[in-house]
Amino acid sequence: MPLNRSHRLFQRAKAKIPGGVNSPVRAWKGVGGTPLFIARGQGAHVFDSDGNRYIDFVGSWGPLICGHAHRQILHELAKTARNGTTFGAPTEHEVKLAEFVVRLMPSLQKIRLVSSGTEATMSAVRVARAYTGRSKIVKFDGCYHGHSDGLLVKAGSGIATLGLPDSPGVPPGFAKETLVAKYNDVISVRKLFERHGKNIAALIVEPVCGNMGVIPPDKDFLTFLRRLTRRYGTLLIFDEVITGFRIAIGGAQSIYGVTPDLTCLGKVLGGGLPLAAFGGRRQVMDLVAPEGPVYQAGTLSGNPLAVTAGLATLRLLARPGTYAALEAKGRKLEEGFARVLKKFSIRGTINRIGSMMTLFFGVERVRNADDARQCDRERFARYFHGMLRRGIYLPPAPFEAMFVSLAHTTADIDSTVAAFHDWAAQETRR
Ligand code: PMP
Repeated sequence: MPLNRSHRLFQRAKAKIPGGVNSPVRAWKGVGGTPLFIARGQGAHVFDSDGNRYIDFVGSWGPLICGHAHRQILHELAKTARNGTTFGAPTEHEVKLAEFVVRLMPSLQKIRLVSSGTEATMSAVRVARAYTGRSKIVKFDGCYHGHSDGLLVKAGSGIATLGLPDSPGVPPGFAKETLVAKYNDVISVRKLFERHGKNIAALIVEPVCGNMGVIPPDKDFLTFLRRLTRRYGTLLIFDEVITGFRIAIGGAQSIYGVTPDLTCLGKVLGGGLPLAAFGGRRQVMDLVAPEGPVYQAGTLSGNPLAVTAGLATLRLLARPGTYAALEAKGRKLEEGFARVLKKFSIRGTINRIGSMMTLFFGVERVRNADDARQCDRERFARYFHGMLRRGIYLPPAPFEAMFVSLAHTTADIDSTVAAFHDWAAQETRR
């Protein structure tokens, strides 16, 4: 499979763009090699600049739950675009989306639209600080909540892949306000609250982790967080940027039956265009400007195109049977992979919830970031490149989720399992 054009484009990109990419994980530092430059996508497939076709399990890192270039979404986008692309004034689209989301996720009584998950979490933390009059926040080792200063402490995703402890450029004074607990570890959280409880404005968590690979919460972990934060007057923020509309139309909060004070959304919400949001209890959200004094703004916030793609996506998702279909596809993929691991006696574990899944090599059980860091990264890199050569495009890092979309067919899943079987046979002959 020729990759000449991707190679040439990457050389050009590196000369003018730091690392040749506009977001670090795209550079394949976790697996080595030259990133593919993507020319187009259709359904569950992407085509690189050299014309090679792949079954895509990146899905733009989560947003594309309906697949690439979905006809209905493109149709709606074209209709909106003909009337202009941005006004910096309110539009009917935003009202419709806000009403729709609030109906799907009842814990959000009010919602503010922004353009990225980073903005959503950063703003939610700011509002929580204003509401409580406190400064500290608690996050979990390995959770990624975007790249605002205080949230870059012990973060997952690209930070974990690059092995960065934290980021230079974050003043120690900011980092000091962020306390770090261990995911799925009740004692680590309790200890922080016993010591700092009265100063903790918010606890932010990915209710199901996606940024140290997929790690679901232990039974009752989220209920414990809800009870503890309520006792200390701390706001509970669910970062559902990945899980919102991905694992259920009502997000992780609907599956686990836990109601956060604030929720952050992104990815699927924008249907592949830049859109994110934060929302929650009316009392808290009414602090946001101009209703209240907490400043938060954006030139392109609630952009008509992004909101149109989001609304079209949510309407498709709200149809009956969607999440059962995603679950069936995810289960088929998991079962196929598990069979191959067993057949070739490859040590590893698969964590999956619905259409998001991670295969960790060399470990039996992954419940937190420490477990995830034990995984066999060299084997992961061989797996990544082995699958790529067989036409399967996976997230190019071990601490990420594979995303299945509604566009993946049974044949796509079967081909993916067959490719994995073929790779495993070769890998164990080494
Ligand atoms: N929160 C979570 C849980 C995420 O996974 C991400 C991005 N992967 C973000 C926040 C940040 O979103 P964005 O990249 O849109 O800034």
